[in-house]
Amino acid sequence: MSYLRKYSPLHPHQRQPLDDQQIENSAGGYAYPVSIWTNLDRFLILGTEGGSYYAEEQDLTKENIDSVKKCITEDGIKVVERIREISVSGRAPKNDPALYALALAFTHGNTTTKQKVQEVFCDVARIGTHLFNFVAFMDGMRGWGRSVRRLIGEWYRTKDDDTLAYQVLKYQSRNTWRHADVLAKCHYGENRGIYRWMKGLDTEKRVVSRASKDGTQISTTYDATDALPELLAGYEELKRTEKRADVIKLIEKHEFTHEMVPNVWKDETDVWAALLANMPVMATVRNLGKMTQVGLLKPYAQEVQTVLDRLSADVIKRSLIHPIQILMALITYRSGKGVRGSLTWQPVPQIVDALDAAFYMAFDNIEPSEKNTLLALDVSGSMGSGTVAGCKGLTPRTASAALSLVTARTEPNYHIFGFSDDFVHLPIAAEDDLTSAVEKVRGIPMGATDCALPMLYAIENKLEVDVFIIYTDNETWYGDIHPKTALDMYRQDMGRPAKCAVVGMVANKFSIADPNDAGMLDFIGFDTATPALLSDFAKDAEITNEP
Ligand code: CA
Repeated sequence: MSYLRKYSPLHPHQRQPLDDQQIENSAGGYAYPVSIWTNLDRFLILGTEGGSYYAEEQDLTKENIDSVKKCITEDGIKVVERIREISVSGRAPKNDPALYALALAFTHGNTTTKQKVQEVFCDVARIGTHLFNFVAFMDGMRGWGRSVRRLIGEWYRTKDDDTLAYQVLKYQSRNTWRHADVLAKCHYGENRGIYRWMKGLDTEKRVVSRASKDGTQISTTYDATDALPELLAGYEELKRTEKRADVIKLIEKHEFTHEMVPNVWKDETDVWAALLANMPVMATVRNLGKMTQVGLLKPYAQEVQTVLDRLSADVIKRSLIHPIQILMALITYRSGKGVRGSLTWQPVPQIVDALDAAFYMAFDNIEPSEKNTLLALDVSGSMGSGTVAGCKGLTPRTASAALSLVTARTEPNYHIFGFSDDFVHLPIAAEDDLTSAVEKVRGIPMGATDCALPMLYAIENKLEVDVFIIYTDNETWYGDIHPKTALDMYRQDMGRPAKCAVVGMVANKFSIADPNDAGMLDFIGFDTATPALLSDFAKDAEITNEP
């Protein structure tokens, strides 16, 4: 780029610090360190599963843990509140980082922080899977002292029998943990019928006597488990049932989920039809392949309409399903084969289209800023490694292509480019679907990284840009001018107060955004709030993203 050569001798290049705030990034370039609080948000939303181009998963996780611990030392209550807020709002693709951070806060926080963890625990560990993952994190982090037992036991204690029955049947085990194991760790006795059922103990009412410390006998009466919730009784009946018609009747009566139905029935079309009637959105999205394979979802079948209704805007909005889960379901369903490859099916086109449409609905409502928006996707080599939120095959590179479509479909004045050490026009348009957009990015050759190119290109071509949106891992190093310098040059040359939004796609601690420049701001990729926040930023509206 001729412009670059013209100006570069006057400024430090990217392998030198621009000012005394910059630090060296993993690529040998210099960037700004993000605050520990921005790092916390990146960790909660992006996670570290799958690592990055520059760091193995365990190293990236360690870096993030150190940073979360600093936040806990600085203000533990704020950390726990932030965890709760991000977890409950459904902004993050996965709840595991929130659960992990909560375990850290309980382990490293002071007394008031620990109390706060107790207060929010059941809000963050909402379902059985969350509980099992939290238990596994805690078990690896520390011993089962009284405070840990009380915290985890709370999850069971505060639920009534009906709620607990549903949870323990739908989420029976995870990794090596079963509810019986967790109850045993919590020293939970047999004084509640449903605990005894979970532990596989007998169901009769009984009285057990034991000697107390002073030698007197204490008697405990255990309730008979015939007073257990109807769901558990129905489940026991289901396990014994041998006729398909009876299985279907029981599913209809008790609204069982597919996890509660024995595998022997899982190849029956009618059984899936009965399950689909009351299937939650998330389970519907996850089982599209299976339901197509068993022949329930096929052209002209009325069940296809049931699925389409379940993927409609208002249902998706209410469900809190994350767009990344829809994206992953779309990629799998469209491919016609399961992740493990044993299952194959003929995808129903209407369902593919409905998943594509549902993806956009799963983000917060976006008011277009109507500003001149230049979307620049870092397509360099490093963006092709690691995974976003642990989703297999979803690299930061492909994830940014999907995210850029959300803006493309909202903003009237957008242009999309890709950059590495070269700047290329990316022919992604609002008419693209997710699959074609991802394919277009996949086709671009990878290269070294220069995050200043979007601004330099706009200067050279005299483009009237209001906001640059750069999707990157912030590992810039190749260029002869820093991105911040290039933005200032653009503003001066064009006489436009252009802004630059930096959308971080990896949970590392770097950013090209200068914290002292109010027109540069950090955002987080695949946060459901990001597209709406980007629009607010472009419109000069107040951003309330900061913790
Ligand atoms: Ca790179």
